[in-house]
Amino acid sequence: MSPSVAVVASLNVDHIVRAPRIPEPGETLLGFSTSRELGGKGGNQAVAAARLGASVAVLGCVGQDEDGDEYRQALLAEGVDVTHVRRSASPTGRAAITVDAEGVNSIVVVAGANADIPADAAETAISDLPELRVVVGQLEAAVAATERAFATARARGVLTVLNTAPADDVAVKLLPLSDVVVSNEIEFRQLTGQDPFDADGVRRGSAELFAAGCHWVIVTLGAEGCAVLDASSSTQVPAVAVRAVDTTAAGDSFVGALAARLAEIPGEPTTADVVDACGFAAKVAAVVVTRHGAHPSLPTLAEVIDA
Ligand code: AMP
Repeated sequence: MSPSVAVVASLNVDHIVRAPRIPEPGETLLGFSTSRELGGKGGNQAVAAARLGASVAVLGCVGQDEDGDEYRQALLAEGVDVTHVRRSASPTGRAAITVDAEGVNSIVVVAGANADIPADAAETAISDLPELRVVVGQLEAAVAATERAFATARARGVLTVLNTAPADDVAVKLLPLSDVVVSNEIEFRQLTGQDPFDADGVRRGSAELFAAGCHWVIVTLGAEGCAVLDASSSTQVPAVAVRAVDTTAAGDSFVGALAARLAEIPGEPTTADVVDACGFAAKVAAVVVTRHGAHPSLPTLAEVIDA
């Protein structure tokens, strides 16, 4: 099946340390355990959408190293099209993650090969996928490539979904090319200066994003669910009440599920379609927070229906 969803994706190997707390600057701590997992926001989003039944292509770049081989193989095993995953001389992207006893994490990401996705290759890839309906981007992969992919998608009438993660001012460059903007509370506050937990603040902040060129704003609020806005309406979509054990990849699974659902809509989505897709994404993310890890926690469609 030709891909209906493309993700301009960061592909990272996560090195995770569990410790009683996050160390102070200059401090050495004794931790509990270490693990190594595949992650990166874009890779997580692509795998999330694929497990939910979407036909997915990744536009990305890994190194000419074992991490790169492993990530490519893992995507293939998920049925993801890796035709547009390139190799560069830089090492595969890495994240060093410390998780404290309360599950709060602190993360340093080194982009490595993620910064090497050529913009012209992104344009070629988007032009080459005849059944494409949705392109997803975040701020961990090469911004120039995401920008070109979105511009090419827009010119073809393909829906563009920008996840403004991690919080970075560079998001502003992509707003005019983004149909749907998904921001968590921290990113929304950083992007607009408005309080994401105040309805008026969300409306004021979203108005700025609409003025910049996007059509829908989704503000995710963890266990509080999300707000979906268009230029004239605002709808609250509640989260599903669950006992969360690890919120890693909650936001990524939400974005992957949103893209998978929007790709099924023939023609331009309506606001009702976007609200409906957010309801589905909330169900998917609720499963994710009851499980540990990133890729291991992403459910199949059957697991979401059974949950
Ligand atoms: P966040 O990135 O934390 O805003 O989370 C994204 C989405 O995941 C939210 O809009 C919720 O639908 C879901 N989610 C996150 N945390 C929880 C939680 N503790 N319980 C249920 N759903 C959650």
